[in-house]
Amino acid sequence: MEVLKYDVVVVGSGLAGLRAAAAAAAAGVEVAVLTKVSGPRSHSISAEGGMAAVVDPAKTGDSPELHAYDTVKGGDYLVDQEVAVQFAYEAPREVKFLESIGVPWNRDPDGSYSLRLFGGMSKPRTLFVKDKTGFYIMTALYKYVKGLPNVHLYEEHFVTRIVVRNGVFLGFVAYDMRRGELKGFAAKAGVLAAGGGGRMFRTTTMGYLNTGEVYGYALRAGAALRDMEFVQFHPTALVPSGILISEAARAEGGYLVNRLGERFMKRYAPEKMELAPRDVVSRAIYTECAQGRGFTHESGLCYVGLDVRHIDEKRLKERLPQLLELSKTYAGVDPTRDLIPVRPAAHYFMGGVYTDAQGRVLAADGRWIRGLWAAGEVASVGLHGANRLGSNSLSECAVWGKLAGEAAAQYAKSTPSTPSGVLTEEVKREEERVYGLVKRERGGETPSSIARELQNIMDEAAGVVRHGSELSKALGRLSALQKRLADIRISDGGLVYNMELREVLELDGAVLAAQTILTGALLRQESRGSHYRLDYPQREDKSWLRHTLYYLYGGSLLVAKREVNITRWMPEVRRY
Ligand SMILES: Cc1cc2nc3c(=O)[nH]c(=O)nc-3n(C[C@H](O)[C@H](O)[C@H](O)COP(=O)(O)OP(=O)(O)OC[C@H]3O[C@@H](n4cnc5c(N)ncnc54)[C@H](O)[C@@H]3O)c2cc1C
Repeated sequence: MEVLKYDVVVVGSGLAGLRAAAAAAAAGVEVAVLTKVSGPRSHSISAEGGMAAVVDPAKTGDSPELHAYDTVKGGDYLVDQEVAVQFAYEAPREVKFLESIGVPWNRDPDGSYSLRLFGGMSKPRTLFVKDKTGFYIMTALYKYVKGLPNVHLYEEHFVTRIVVRNGVFLGFVAYDMRRGELKGFAAKAGVLAAGGGGRMFRTTTMGYLNTGEVYGYALRAGAALRDMEFVQFHPTALVPSGILISEAARAEGGYLVNRLGERFMKRYAPEKMELAPRDVVSRAIYTECAQGRGFTHESGLCYVGLDVRHIDEKRLKERLPQLLELSKTYAGVDPTRDLIPVRPAAHYFMGGVYTDAQGRVLAADGRWIRGLWAAGEVASVGLHGANRLGSNSLSECAVWGKLAGEAAAQYAKSTPSTPSGVLTEEVKREEERVYGLVKRERGGETPSSIARELQNIMDEAAGVVRHGSELSKALGRLSALQKRLADIRISDGGLVYNMELREVLELDGAVLAAQTILTGALLRQESRGSHYRLDYPQREDKSWLRHTLYYLYGGSLLVAKREVNITRWMPEVRRY
């Protein structure tokens, strides 16, 4: 058994994880990055539309305050307002950092940055590289981090446990899939940057790696989760695959039409139309379908049409090349002549591991889990509230990746070495559990049948619209699923690249995370942002202008409410 020692260990090699590693490395400490995939294949690479930041206020009459205000309103006032202001001021520096390592932001003929107007933003402030922004960012950042001598990348290392004792973070246990063994990573400081968990849903734009187990592992390590009931559904995913068609399509002038050829958004957001925030547009598509004005796909799914036929073909090729490729390959349509068939799909987790404004991971009582930070989609720093504005995520990953990486490095410098004895014990314990799963001879279902059932439960009860009775039933089905998971069958008896084992480990954390989503969605008897209850269709500020906090107590999941930090903008009716 191997126990390695580092100053800072980061979980995740997406934008947040690599940015954290780069920042920690710049402070001169030894850094390890653990990632369950290989190379830069994290979901960040599929980001399409762009990254929000106020880079050229004079050009557009924009300001960081306005960016913060749009973010607060977009999040239906559940945003921590000081966090939004901090974000808006920090984001432009990250644009420059990324440019300095080779991200070729699109520019206008006068040399200024090209900017897109994204949903819910009152000014164009989304920087982009074609509609492949994530690809260009991740390619540059991966190359940069690979060149840093004090960053050590452990690819295909699946973290199975976050080790915390007496409120202090001590390291991680990881399953090295290549060698088929468990390893310990003793660390003075840790950063969780494990991304979202969209794969709990059947229809999702997220990659296969985004299974969400780290939310569950964080709960078990004593951290709290916040606002998990808020899952964003992106309005324009291809039918039936769920592959994303970027909001850039609407930012470049694309329309949404129903079966009658109407631009139906005029009924739901007369001013902003297709560029209303995503929760508004997704619900509009849901309503068009429910009222019989959608198209029907051969799979039986209802959808609407995304129309870009009026946009000049040269511009489409220049600005939205990926839209053309994806529509052709995955839906068999030519967007210069045909409507693109789209419907909402699970896209982003607004909630996550509860942190303070510096990204420090907190327990439910507000105590810092010493030595542990979280950044990017896995974290809930308080920026997105009940609904994220498109293109705010890439900037969030960069801003808090950097802050967390720097802070973790400073902390590591002033902290004595982690005793590796504790990690040795933890690895032994994990070996017993994990090897026990593989060696077990009997057993019930396969992991994939459990994963499918989880996706059915979440799609049916926790989608664009929700209802108390469906949520209660779903919680019952989920608890039955938890029992079935305990009796799972792994047919592969080996340890090298045992993908069934990996799926069981994913489900082990994901089912617990799913429980937080359903529990919070049932508890929150109101509609706010992405969370829409058919039985409680109004926003209820008096009782529900509150965060939800989830934590484990004696092995059971508990939920508490917490005040929202309202410091600048009082809640208003959200109209677009
Ligand atoms: C198709 C698509 C397009 C998008 N477009 C945009 C956009 O244009 N603009 C925007 O702002 N946002 C966009 N988003 C959202 C944004 O891309 C993501 O929120 C962001 O990239 C998440 O980055 P991350 O670093 O937090 O996590 P990810 O990039 O998801 O990376 C997660 C990392 O964690 C690792 N990991 C997870 N679990 C484990 C484990 N158990 N052990 C070891 N490693 C683990 C994975 O290997 C991976 O490296 C888009 C999202 C999607 C799905």
